[in-house]
Amino acid sequence: MTYVNETISALRKSSPAQTEFYQAVEEVLESLHPVLENDDKYRRHSIVERIVEPERQIIFRVPWMDDQGNIHVNKGYRIEFNSALGPYKGGLRFHPSINAGIIKFLGFEQIFKNALTGLSIGGGKGGANFDPKGRSDAEIMRFCQSFMNELYRHIGPTTDVPAGDIGVGAREIGYLFGQYKRLTGRYEGVLTGKSLLWGGSLVRKEATGYGCVYFAQQMLADENLELAGRDCLVSGSGNVATYVIEKLYQCGARPITCSDSTGTIHDPEGINLETLKQLKEVQKTSLNAYLIHHPGARFIAIADYPEDGHAVWHITGSLAFPCATQNELTRSDAETLINNGCIAISEGANMPSTPEAVDLILDAKLLYGPGKAANAGGVATSQLEMAQNASMQRWSFEQVDTQLKSIMSNIYSNARDTAIKYDAPGNLVVGANIAGFIRVADAMIEQGIV
Ligand code: NDP
Repeated sequence: MTYVNETISALRKSSPAQTEFYQAVEEVLESLHPVLENDDKYRRHSIVERIVEPERQIIFRVPWMDDQGNIHVNKGYRIEFNSALGPYKGGLRFHPSINAGIIKFLGFEQIFKNALTGLSIGGGKGGANFDPKGRSDAEIMRFCQSFMNELYRHIGPTTDVPAGDIGVGAREIGYLFGQYKRLTGRYEGVLTGKSLLWGGSLVRKEATGYGCVYFAQQMLADENLELAGRDCLVSGSGNVATYVIEKLYQCGARPITCSDSTGTIHDPEGINLETLKQLKEVQKTSLNAYLIHHPGARFIAIADYPEDGHAVWHITGSLAFPCATQNELTRSDAETLINNGCIAISEGANMPSTPEAVDLILDAKLLYGPGKAANAGGVATSQLEMAQNASMQRWSFEQVDTQLKSIMSNIYSNARDTAIKYDAPGNLVVGANIAGFIRVADAMIEQGIV
C-alpha cells in the first residue's frame, strides 16, 4: 500500500515527531485500501492528502498565577481539523503529556467518529499541557480563564464547539463558559458538557460510558450472547469509566476492576460505584483509598505492573472496556486477555489499544469495538445538547437516552454492514473507518477544493 507509506513519510517531514498522529493516520489509511482501489475519485480529488492536514491549527501561550504568586506558562491548542460535515466538534484535554501530535491524533480520529454518528458535526480537538492534579479550585479557574482569553476568538456555536476530555469536566467547562460569556457578552451554546443548571443536557455526563456499553450489547446480541452475569474489566476511573461501570450494573453484569494513573483496583465482589464516585468525582484522590472502604479488594500499584503491560488486563473477565487513555492495552495485554477467555472489547478511550494489540485481537476473532465507533455516544449527545440550546428546549432523560441508544445502534450496524460490503466481515475497524471516510470524503468533494 504505497499511498500509506507515502503519506506517512510526507507527514514525518512536514509534521515531525508526532508519533500518535502517524499511528492514527496509518490505521485509518490501511483500512481504506478497498475504497481507494475501487473508486479513483478520491485519488483524483486528493482526498487523502487533504484529510490528513488540519484546516487550521491554533497554538497559544497560557500564562497564569498559582496561589503562591508564582507565574506559570502552558501551551494551549485547538486543532480545527475538518468542517466538511458541520462545525468543528471535539473535546479539550488538560494533561501534562499533551503535545501537538496527541491533539492531532485525537482531532483526526474525531473526524471519522463524528461522521459515523450520522450527525452534522466536523472534527476538532484541543487542550493544554497543564496538570490539574493538586491544583486548588482558584488555580483551575485562573488557568481556564487564561485559556479562554485566547480561545474565545476562534470558537462559536456554529463554528467550533469544544467539550470536555481528560482533565476537563463540569467544573472546568463552567469556568471556561463563564469567561467566554464575559469576553463576548453572549450566552450561547459554545461549549457542551455544561451544567444542568445552565444549558447542559441530561445524559451528557453519562453518554460516553453508557454508549460504550450499548455498543458492546449490540456486538454480543449479533452473536446471541448477553452481558448479564458476566465479569467485566474496566480501566480508568474518570468520566467514561464511571458510567461504563454504572451501565454494566444496570445490565446485570459485574465490573470488577478500575484504574488510575497510580494503579489498578481489583474487587471480585464488583467495584462499589458509590465509593468510586466519592473518591474520583468528589475527593479527586488516588484509587488506593478504595481499600479503606473495601478491604477485600486488591490494589496493584503501577510499579508492580507486568513489564510491557497493564495489570487490569491480566485479571480474568469476559469483556474488556479500556477507558483511560491511548496505548494502554499492549500486545502482551491482548495475548493475556485472549488466553483468559475474554470474548469482547469495547473501547471507551480513544485509541487505547496499540496497533500490534489490535492485529492480535482481530486475528483471534474477538468482538472488537474500536474507540471511534464505541465511544461516539459522548459527542453524539453533545450534538443533542447543541440542538436543545439552539431551540431553547430541554429534553427528558428518557428522550436523550433513547436517542443515544438509537445512535449507537446505527453506528454499530453501519460499521458492521460496511465491513461486510468491503469483504471484511466482523472487522469493525475497517467498517468504521470506511463508513466515516466515505461520508466526509464525499462531502469534501461536493464542497470543492477548500
Ligand atoms: P477523565 O479525566 O475523567 O479520566 C481519565 C482517567 O484515565 C482517570 O482515571 C485517569 O487517572 C486515567 N488516566 C489518564 N491518563 C492516564 C495515563 N497516562 N496513565 C494512566 N491512567 C491515566 O477522562 P475521561 O474519562 O473523559 O476520558 C477517558 C478517555 O475517554 C480518553 O481517552 C478520552 O479521550 C476518551 N473519551 C472521552 C469522552 C468524554 O465524553 N469524556 C468522549 C470520547 C472519548 P487519574 O485519575 O489518576 O488522572
